[in-house]
Amino acid sequence: MDGVSFPAPETATDVVCGRTVLPASAGLPLLFRGCRYWFCSQACRQAFKREPERHVEARPDAGVPAGPPPVERRSPFRVRAGPPPADDEPAPR
Ligand SMILES: [Zn+2]
Repeated sequence: MDGVSFPAPETATDVVCGRTVLPASAGLPLLFRGCRYWFCSQACRQAFKREPERHVEARPDAGVPAGPPPVERRSPFRVRAGPPPADDEPAPR
């Protein structure tokens, strides 16, 4: 796993101008504070780069969390289901 190719949403909001953008055609997102942002144009991209905090605060919902996709921890082998080993030593009083 390279840790970069997270699935992109179908649509995203341009955090600068508020337009809906299609990540599939918008190119690489910018990462800021663990969220991804797509832009309708290079102009918006540059505007975001200049003042990311201001734009993020104005549209806090525009970012798409860039965390890794949920990993299902499922072993191909059955985990032996049984009671935990009995603790037959009495607790000291
Ligand atoms: Zn824009």
